[in-house]
Amino acid sequence: MSSKNRMTKKLSIIPLGGFGEVGKNMLAYEYNNQILVVDAGLMFPENDMVGVEYIIPDYEYLKQRSDKVVGIVITHGHEDHIGAIQHVLKDIPAPVYGTALTLGLVEVKLSRGGLLPKADLRTVKAGETAQIGPFKVEFFHVCHSIPDSVGLGITCPAGLVVHTGDYKFDQTPVDNWPTDFAKLTEFSSRGVDILLADSTNSETPGWTPSEQTIGPAFDAVIRDAPGRVIIATFASLISRIQQAADAAVRHERKLAFAGISMVDNAKMAQMLGYLNIPEETLVTLDAALGMPAKNVIIMCTGSQGEPTSIIGRLSAGTNRQFGLLPEDTIVLSSHPIPGNEEVISKAINRLLRRGVNVIYDGLAKIHVSGHASQEEQKLMLNLVRPKHFVPMHGELRMLKRHAWLAEQVGMQKENIFTVENGNVIELQDGKVRLAERIPGKYVFIKSSSAVENVPATIQPRKPQPVNPGTLVVNLSLDKRTNRLLNNPEITTNNFVLAGTDTTKIVGAVQQRLVEVIHSGVRVERDLSDVVRTFVFNQTKCRPNVSVNITRA
Ligand SMILES: [Zn+2]
Ligand SMILES: [Zn+2]
Repeated sequence: MSSKNRMTKKLSIIPLGGFGEVGKNMLAYEYNNQILVVDAGLMFPENDMVGVEYIIPDYEYLKQRSDKVVGIVITHGHEDHIGAIQHVLKDIPAPVYGTALTLGLVEVKLSRGGLLPKADLRTVKAGETAQIGPFKVEFFHVCHSIPDSVGLGITCPAGLVVHTGDYKFDQTPVDNWPTDFAKLTEFSSRGVDILLADSTNSETPGWTPSEQTIGPAFDAVIRDAPGRVIIATFASLISRIQQAADAAVRHERKLAFAGISMVDNAKMAQMLGYLNIPEETLVTLDAALGMPAKNVIIMCTGSQGEPTSIIGRLSAGTNRQFGLLPEDTIVLSSHPIPGNEEVISKAINRLLRRGVNVIYDGLAKIHVSGHASQEEQKLMLNLVRPKHFVPMHGELRMLKRHAWLAEQVGMQKENIFTVENGNVIELQDGKVRLAERIPGKYVFIKSSSAVENVPATIQPRKPQPVNPGTLVVNLSLDKRTNRLLNNPEITTNNFVLAGTDTTKIVGAVQQRLVEVIHSGVRVERDLSDVVRTFVFNQTKCRPNVSVNITRA
C-alpha cells in the first residue's frame, strides 16, 4: 500500500475552524506544497459581541500560500460551511467544488457581493471523483438537514482520509436518499488511515430521529392554528422548507417566504429541483398578507431569535412589512445553537407578551437534528474502521465525548487525536502525529464589507467583543419653546466604518434629530434610542450613544 511506502511525503491536516467550537468550519489538507481546503463557514456571534454580524475562520495561513491552494471543496450549503466563501475567494481565487444545490447556495451568496463572474464553480455529483492537484477526492452522499450533502474520501500518496462532513444515518430521509453505506464499507476495505467525523451530537445517546418524524407535528400545529402560521428556520434548511410546503398543500394553505435570504434560497432550490412547491400553493408575501389569516403559512428566518431577523423584529414590534396578529402561531423550527439559548428564550417571552402562540423545540416535535447521535457515530466508526480517528465539528467537550465513543468501539487511545483549531496533524508512512500549532486570530465581520482582526491565539481564548465606538450628541434647546438653538453637535470616537463615509452618517443623524425634535421634543433617553436605531439601520453597527441636552 502506498501509505507504507517510505518515500511518501507527509500529509498535513490543518484545522482552521470548527475544532473546539460549533460553527465556522474550515480545514486544509496540504501535501507536497499543494493545499486542498474543505469548507469555509461562519459562526454567529455571542450576545456580548455588540455590532458583530458574524465570525469567520482566520485563514491567514492560506492567504500567505494562496497560489498553492488547488481547490476549495464545500460539503454542503449550510452557513457554517459556506458562510465565509465570499471573503475567502477574494483572497484565494481557487476553483470551488460542490454539488449542484451547494454551489447554487454559494452562487446566491456570491452574486450579492458581485463576486460571481470571477468565481470558478465546478459542480460534482455524489458518487463522482475529482482529481484536485495531488488529491483524488471521492464524493459520497450523506443524509443531513439539507439535500445534496456529501462526505469526502481524500486519497494522496500519504494515504486515504475519510472526511464525513455533517451527516446522520436517516433511513427515511425526506428526499429518499440515505447515506451511502456501501461507499463507506468500500473505503474500509481499502484501509482508511484517518477518519474525521462530525461530533455535534456526540453527547446525545441513541439515534437521531428521521426527518420524516416532523411531518405529523407540523400537521398538528397547522391544523389547530386559528390564524396564520409563521414558521422560522434557517434559510439554508431546504428540507424543512419542503416539509412546510408539503404541510401547506395538505392543509390547503398558501405558502409565502419573507426575507431576502429565504426568498433567494428557495427560488434557487426550486430552479434546481431540490424544492417542489406546487405553483398554486406558493404566493408572494404581499398576496399572503391580503388573504384570510387562516389560509396562510409564512416562512422566515430568525429561529435563533437574532434581533435583526424577521422573528427578532416581530418580537420587538419593529418589522416593517407586517406585524403580528393576535391569532398568529409562531413555530421556531430549529435547535438553539449552543450559546444562543438566552437570546431565543428572550425572544420567545417577547412574542408571548404580544399575545401570539409560540411553538418551540421541547413543546412539539417540530425539529429534528441533522447530525448523527452516539449510536450513528459508532456505526460510522464501525463501517469505516479507520486506523486513526480525529473528531471534528464541535466544542472541546463534544470532541472529547466523540473520542470516548471511539474507544467504546475498540479504538486505541493513542490512535485518537483530539485537537482544536490550529493544531496540525501529520500523516506520513502510515503514522499520525501532532505537529506544531499555527497561530490564529478571531476575525469579526461587522458589516458585509468591514473585516476586523482582533489579535488572539486561535484557542482557547474566548472571542473579544469588538469595540463599537461611541457617538456623542450635544443639543442646546430653547428652555421655553424646546426648539433647537443650533444644529445638533455630534462627535464620534472610534466609530469607523469601512467603505462608508462617517461624515455622511453624522450628517444624516443630524438631519434625523432635527426632524424628530421639530415634531416635539423628547427626553434624552428617547433621543438616544432614536439615534441608536437610526445608526444601526444605516450601518448595521451599534456604537455607544449618549445624548446631552442643555437648555438655555
Ligand atoms: Zn450542516
Ligand atoms: Zn455544520
